[in-house]
Amino acid sequence: MPCKRCGKCCKKIAMLYPRDELLEEWGKARRFKVMQRSDKALMYSVSHICPQLKNGNECKMQDDKPAVCSGFPSVDHAQWGFDNNHCLPKGCGFKWDGERYV
Ligand code: SF4
Ligand code: SF4
Repeated sequence: MPCKRCGKCCKKIAMLYPRDELLEEWGKARRFKVMQRSDKALMYSVSHICPQLKNGNECKMQDDKPAVCSGFPSVDHAQWGFDNNHCLPKGCGFKWDGERYV
């Protein structure tokens, strides 16, 4: 099982926005940290600890968590010009094999 149950993906949100001067100013004003930039998009990293997280890495709703969580990671960021392996939390057990996360 690639997931190490580290809980890192429950503490940060990566947000993708198309490259646009106004959106960039908006992100700066909110002090969002730019994780990556490509020709097509900006990826912001926003710290947000999920209220369902307990003991640092356990999900209070483990058996009933949202699909976005149970399916993580699933987004193919390559279409936005990013390297999928650089879009995962540092130390995540998943890797992009060119077609999907394994
Ligand atoms: S960051 Fe990766 S290894 Fe850690 S809990 Fe999330 S999916 Fe699992
Ligand atoms: S619902 Fe559970 S798995 Fe999803 S982000 Fe919150 S703590 Fe993590």
